[in-house]
Amino acid sequence: MATITENATFDKPKVRQTKMLIGGEWCDAVSGKTFATMNPATEEKIADVAEGDAEDIALAVKAARNAFESGPWRSMDARDRGRLLNRLADLVEENFDELAALETLDNGKPINDSRAADLPLVIDCLRYYAGWADKIHGDTIPIRGNYFCYTKREPVGVAGQIIPWNFPMLMVAWKWGPALAAGCTIVMKPAEQTPLTCLRMGELAMEAGFPEGVINIVPGYGPTAGAALVKHPDVDKIAFTGEHKTAQIIMADAAQTLKRLTFELGGKSPNVVFADADIDAAVAGAEFGLFFNQGQCCCAGSRLFVEESVHEEFVEKVIARAKGRKLGDPFDTGTSQGPQVDQAQFDKILSYIEKGNAEGASCVTGGSRFGDKGYFVEPTIFDNVTDEMSIAQEEIFGPVLSILPFNGVEEVIDRANRSFYGLAAAVWTRDVAKAHRIADSVRAGTVWINCYDVFDAGAPFGGFKMSGIGRELGEAALANYTEAKTVTMNLE
Ligand code: NDP
Repeated sequence: MATITENATFDKPKVRQTKMLIGGEWCDAVSGKTFATMNPATEEKIADVAEGDAEDIALAVKAARNAFESGPWRSMDARDRGRLLNRLADLVEENFDELAALETLDNGKPINDSRAADLPLVIDCLRYYAGWADKIHGDTIPIRGNYFCYTKREPVGVAGQIIPWNFPMLMVAWKWGPALAAGCTIVMKPAEQTPLTCLRMGELAMEAGFPEGVINIVPGYGPTAGAALVKHPDVDKIAFTGEHKTAQIIMADAAQTLKRLTFELGGKSPNVVFADADIDAAVAGAEFGLFFNQGQCCCAGSRLFVEESVHEEFVEKVIARAKGRKLGDPFDTGTSQGPQVDQAQFDKILSYIEKGNAEGASCVTGGSRFGDKGYFVEPTIFDNVTDEMSIAQEEIFGPVLSILPFNGVEEVIDRANRSFYGLAAAVWTRDVAKAHRIADSVRAGTVWINCYDVFDAGAPFGGFKMSGIGRELGEAALANYTEAKTVTMNLE
């Protein structure tokens, strides 16, 4: 599989699909409206994409409902659903270069990241869930009396899936994999900033042979297309990744129809470095844990707690690494940091940098826009950040690292938990007992010990507290897309 290539510039890909996918057909929006998707590195338009709203969502839900209730999907052997997922993974592999370039074009992430991280994880996730399709089963239960009692796990039905822009294609895989393995049908709304790889994945799904109506894609805006999907009475479940404030709106909108909800939301993840750690490894982990993907990761290690006795040395080293990051054309393989996804994110990040300065933190590197075209922000580090500052509490979703000095295990546990988020955490130490003390005490869905951002399709991921409800990936994600049915038969 192609991964990192040195000293090369990749060509920009051709955009092949800008329409919506409903019932196996590629169509314009009923309204005829389109919206522009932009290249964040140049601020130029890439393409106009069909803009779906409530009418298009209604058509897509109807197609998904029909495909769920009747037709080949319903009667297909589970193992054949797995074969289709594997075929889709094959097609992603066959179109690897194009998909990686399309992701970089629409999102701005460096081509090396698309090729070395996003694409391999997409393929792995699809194959992992392909393997699950024929292994989703119930139990036989020895109940009292002369009965035969067993459970089945049936697909939840039509799944509405709303995804963000930070890992557009990976979010497609995380959502489609378990839903399709379980036998659900799908209406997906990709983020308006990054619809292109989702649409291309739709084409590949059709080529793989998924029956019409099983996968429907309606690009559009959250408050129109997204809200219509959430409110639609014929949608059984919503899976959403994005901001917790949007999740609150979705939860309220879904109340009328009591939809099943799973949420993967934001974070302000503590990354804890003890003085006894391998400092160079921890420095590299601090850089990667925050700056990867332009800081646009829900699990970014944005609160870096460094033990006092190594604080000075650590800060110097992490500044050097931040300064060594190469910003520029994301299609250049020498680039380690691309632009932020859009003007809104760019403005939000710069406003947090202003707040950090105003609240009295020390900006020790970066702090400004990079260049004069594209939404580039310098890798920025604030030192001497205190717990109550907004840059220590709120999700910035950009290349801004907050360093908080601390003393001792008990203090850092208390301070790490002072957040309404609980998505991820990391600890760097050579002391196994200390590592497990942190892993046990920090309220977070994932804890990394002497590593950061290690993802695998088999390992569940999701949040405590306001970071989410439910888990993605692993066997756990299958629960999001299945209902248990208990069957009891009288044997008298
Ligand atoms: P949102 O939560 O608004 O967007 C995520 C998805 O939800 C998009 O597809 C969006 O549509 C859709 N959406 C928006 N409003 C509604 C609604 N009322 N009903 C249904 N769907 C809706 O995040 P943003 O893109 O606005 O980013 C804002 C902040 O959210 C970021 O700065 C970051 O802090 C956080 N975030 C967290 C992510 C994570 O992985 N946890 C991912 C992305 C953002 P549309 O495309 O129109 O926005």
